[in-house]
Amino acid sequence: MSGPRPVRAPRGTELSTRGWQQEAALRMLQNNLDPEVAEHPDKLVVYGGTGKAARDWRSFDAMVRTLQTLKQDETMLVQSGRPVGVMQTHEWAPRVLIANSNLVGDWANWEEFRRLEALGLTMYGQMTAGSWIYIGTQGILQGTYETFSAVAAKKFGGTLAGTITLTAGLGGMGGAQPLAVTMNDGVAICIDCDPRAIERRIEHRYLDVKADSLDHALQLAVEARDARRPLSIGVLGNAAELVPQLLAMNAPIDIVTDQTSAHDPLAYLPVGVSFDEMATYAAEKPADFTTRARESMARHVEAMVGFQDAGAEVFDYGNSIRGEAQLAGYTRAFDFPGFVPAYIRPLFCEGKGPFRWAALSGDPKDIAATDRAILDLFPENESLARWIKMAGERVHFQGLPARICWLGYGERDRAGERFNDMVASGELSAPIVIGRDHLDCGSVASPYRETEAMLDGSDAIADWPLLNAMVNVASGASWVSLHHGGGVGMGRSIHAGQVTVADGTALAGEKIRRVLTNDPGMGVIRHVDAGYDIADSVAEDRGVRIPMREE
Ligand code: NAD
Repeated sequence: MSGPRPVRAPRGTELSTRGWQQEAALRMLQNNLDPEVAEHPDKLVVYGGTGKAARDWRSFDAMVRTLQTLKQDETMLVQSGRPVGVMQTHEWAPRVLIANSNLVGDWANWEEFRRLEALGLTMYGQMTAGSWIYIGTQGILQGTYETFSAVAAKKFGGTLAGTITLTAGLGGMGGAQPLAVTMNDGVAICIDCDPRAIERRIEHRYLDVKADSLDHALQLAVEARDARRPLSIGVLGNAAELVPQLLAMNAPIDIVTDQTSAHDPLAYLPVGVSFDEMATYAAEKPADFTTRARESMARHVEAMVGFQDAGAEVFDYGNSIRGEAQLAGYTRAFDFPGFVPAYIRPLFCEGKGPFRWAALSGDPKDIAATDRAILDLFPENESLARWIKMAGERVHFQGLPARICWLGYGERDRAGERFNDMVASGELSAPIVIGRDHLDCGSVASPYRETEAMLDGSDAIADWPLLNAMVNVASGASWVSLHHGGGVGMGRSIHAGQVTVADGTALAGEKIRRVLTNDPGMGVIRHVDAGYDIADSVAEDRGVRIPMREE
C-alpha cells in the first residue's frame, strides 16, 4: 500500500471516522495531496519548494488509519509529518497536535535540516502544507490582491491601470500574482523557468497568455498598458538573466517583485543550468548548487535594485531573496523593503489576516452560500465585497471548494458562528472547516517577512507564535500546528496555525467563539506590545484586555 498514488478527499456527509473533527482533519490531509491542489503529490509536496503534508507514504497511511479510529477524547500527535502517539485528552482538546521542522536554534539551518531529512527524521512543513489547510493558489490570491491594491493606493492613485508589474515564479504561491495584478486592472510580466508552471496557470485562468520571447512579452505589455487593458503575460526563462536584460533594455517597468522559491537555494535555478538538469544537479551536488543559486540571486536582486534606482516601486514578496543575495556578497540587497512593513502591517494591527474556510460537502453551492453570508455580515466593507464578488466569478476551485478573505478582530468570530448556524439549520449541506495561513497577524515571528522592522525592534522574538499555539489549544481548536522555517526557510521563522470545525453543534459554536476571538486577538496584543497606535485604538475600542495598560 505504501507508495505514491492519487489521493482525493471524500465528499458528502458519510463519515469514515468517529466524528466531524476527525473527518475534517482526514479530508483536509487528503485534500492537501489532491493532484488539483498539490504541486508534486507523488512526493507528498504541497507547495513552496518542498513543503510536505506527510513525511512519507507509510506515515500518511498511519495518519489516515489513526484518524479513522480516533475517539472524541483522544489526540493524535504528529512530529514532522509522522504520527508518533495517540493520547487521551478531552472533548475540548484538539484532535491533532502537529509540530513540523522545528530545530534547536544553533542547529536550525538547511544543511543540518537536510542531514536529518535524509535520515528520515524530519520533513519541511512550510506553513499550510504540513498543517493541512492549504487551499491551492486562491489562498495566497487574496493576500496578493490586498498587497497590489495597497501598492496601487500608495503610488498609483488607487489602480494599477496603465502600469506594468514585473515578477518571477508561477508556482503554488507565485501563480496568484498575475491574477492579483489584473484584478487591480494592471499588466504583469511573469517569468518562470518551468514551462509546466506557465501552462498550469493558464489552464487555471490565473495567467492570460504566454509570450514567445522577452521582446514579445514587452511588446504585449506595452500595448495593453497603453490601452489601460489588464493583461498577464507568462515568459519562459531564468529570472536571474531576464530581469537584468529588461533593466539593460530600459524596459518601462513600474513595479518589481519576485516569488521564485528563493527561500530554499536548492529550489532556485542557477544561471547556466538547464531546468531539466536542475533536480539531479541539486541532489548530487547540493553545496555547489547552493553557491551558484545564491550568485544568481545576487544578479537578480541587483537588477531589482537597479529598477528601484530608476524609480520603480520594488518590494520583496516574502521569499528571502534579499537574504540569499546578501549571503552571496551583494551589499545593497536590503535597499528595498519587504511587503509586510511596506503594506500589510496596518492590517495586522487590527487583527486582520487570511481567514479561510472549505466546504467538506465538496459542493460549490455551500461556498456560494457562505459568500452571501459574508456580504450580509459586513455590508460596509467595500473592498471585501469587491473581492468576494470577483472571487466568486474568477476563482477556479482546486480540491474541496474553499474561500479566503481577510477579516479582523471582532469579525472572524461572527463569520464562524454564522457558518456554524448555517450548518445547524441545514442551509449548508455539510460542516465547514475554518482555518488560516500561518502568515497572520499574531502567529509568526519572521524577521525577513511578517515581523520585519517592528517598531520596537522585536523582530526575532518568537514567544508570540508559541503563545498563539497554546491559546488556540486552550480555546478549543480542532487541530493546532507549530512550525519552523515556513516561507523564508530554515532558521528564519517560527509560526503557528489553527483549524476549527463548524459542525453545527452547540459545542462547536462555543469553541469557534473563543478560538476566532483569541486567535486574531494575538495580533492585536502583539502590535500593542510593539507600540503601534492603530493596535492600541483597536484594543481600546473592541475591548481587548492588555494588563500593562491597566495600571
Ligand atoms: P514553488 O516552488 O511552487 O514555485 C516556485 C517557482 O519558481 C517554480 O515554478 C520554479 O520553476 C520557479 N523558479 C525557480 N527558480 C527560478 C529562476 N531562477 N527563474 C525563474 N523561475 C524560477 O513555490 P511557491 O509556493 O510559489 O512559493 C514561492 C516563494 O514565495 C517561496 O519562497 C515561498 O516561501 C514564498 N512565499 C511567500 C508568501 C507570501 O505571502 N509572500 C507566502 C508563501 C510563500
